[in-house]
Amino acid sequence: MTIKSKLYAETALIGNQWQKDITLNINSAGYIESIETGRDSQAENVDGILIPGMVNCHSHAFQRAFAGFSEYRANPSDSFWSWRDIMYRFVTNMTPNDAYVVARYLYLEMLKAGYTAVAEFHYLHHQSNGQPYDDIAEMSHQIIGAAESTGIGLTLLPVLYTYAGFGHQSPRQQQGRFIHQTEQYCTLVEKLSLLIQKNKTMKLGIAPHSLRAVSQEQLNEVIPYIRKLDPQSPIHIHIAEQQQEVNDCVAHYGQRPVEWLLNNFNPDQNWCLIHATHLNDEEIRKLSQSEAVAGICPTTEANLGDGIFPTQQFLAQGGSLSIGSDSHIAVNVADELRTLEYAQRLIKQQRSILCDDQQTSVGTYLYRHAAQNGALTINQNVGEIAVGKRADFIVLDPNHPNLYAKPVERILDAAIFACEKLPIKNVMVSGKWQVRQGHHDDENQIIDDYLAVLKKLGQ
Ligand SMILES: [Zn+2]
Repeated sequence: MTIKSKLYAETALIGNQWQKDITLNINSAGYIESIETGRDSQAENVDGILIPGMVNCHSHAFQRAFAGFSEYRANPSDSFWSWRDIMYRFVTNMTPNDAYVVARYLYLEMLKAGYTAVAEFHYLHHQSNGQPYDDIAEMSHQIIGAAESTGIGLTLLPVLYTYAGFGHQSPRQQQGRFIHQTEQYCTLVEKLSLLIQKNKTMKLGIAPHSLRAVSQEQLNEVIPYIRKLDPQSPIHIHIAEQQQEVNDCVAHYGQRPVEWLLNNFNPDQNWCLIHATHLNDEEIRKLSQSEAVAGICPTTEANLGDGIFPTQQFLAQGGSLSIGSDSHIAVNVADELRTLEYAQRLIKQQRSILCDDQQTSVGTYLYRHAAQNGALTINQNVGEIAVGKRADFIVLDPNHPNLYAKPVERILDAAIFACEKLPIKNVMVSGKWQVRQGHHDDENQIIDDYLAVLKKLGQ
């Protein structure tokens, strides 16, 4: 394929190796055509440290607008469930344009933080009274538009949400904007698949919301349906975020959520089990040996008091995980990765836990692991710098005081653990710079629009 651009990097993370003095040839489709040693005279110097972009495996974009609204004690037993009530109240007034403006701002933040693609677990579908919009994909269009406008890669996961709890419990009134029956949902999925096919940085998957919100019969219908459209379509599900959810699942199915899912659906590598937080030893063993990826959202899980995913045991047994920013209490790659490690250090009273004998740098191990497995969860050919992968890159600033003069194998350790956020200069998606010198071309307008919506929603 025709070479469209060439990039030169003095230092780059190619596959698992730090390499010096590298030229990348990027083709007209936005993928890496070849990698050469030395500097091609035509190549643009990236002027920094080139690493792959990170994948954000779990986002509810609208929730960014109320981050910080629920950090006070409303009653002595505040939990995920009381947070959810605040979220329901906030979401009532959000129009399609509000959703677009909030998502666009969030995706700008994500790009600037180093996320080059996101899986949007999209469940705000209908009008405030629960009636569908004239176009059932109205709210999905806002997400697609926000991703197109900012340039971030998107895997859209329309959510199937039917019940308020196990055993076909009727939805609550505040859940009206989220609710679909199976047939209507499949119509939405089909419509979106035609739309998304046209965009080279987008894919479609599905997200049955959780075992409490969809029935086994529904899973048996929608999974073959999406896999017929694309055999590698991602399937994401909230699985075991809360102990109460585990107890309710045992009461209904006689098994724990992860146990039941593994026994009934044999998830493959394009399944992502979001918040597989509460696992017993047998579930850790079986999940780590399955192909499925655990979607962990460390800052949200800490913020909501969910619990701590048994990361060390899971990785030691060969498990795969990716990271997401979920409720967007933080939009910060470094924060997610170090929270993951620090939770383990505090539990184990040890240091340098999430790594292995081949890769002893915690920063490099975690970054590569999350990026590569994140790519599986979005069914996009990204997650590392290699021939055939999409040109989704971050350029780190080598002159940042906390990176300066560090040996190359310590760069990601320093970027994640010693910097508040990744010290990013430039961000490329599919061969196009979307952030240069820390800024996006449309940044001022995106922020102004967002502030206006916040003012409206906050009243
Ligand atoms: Zn979620």
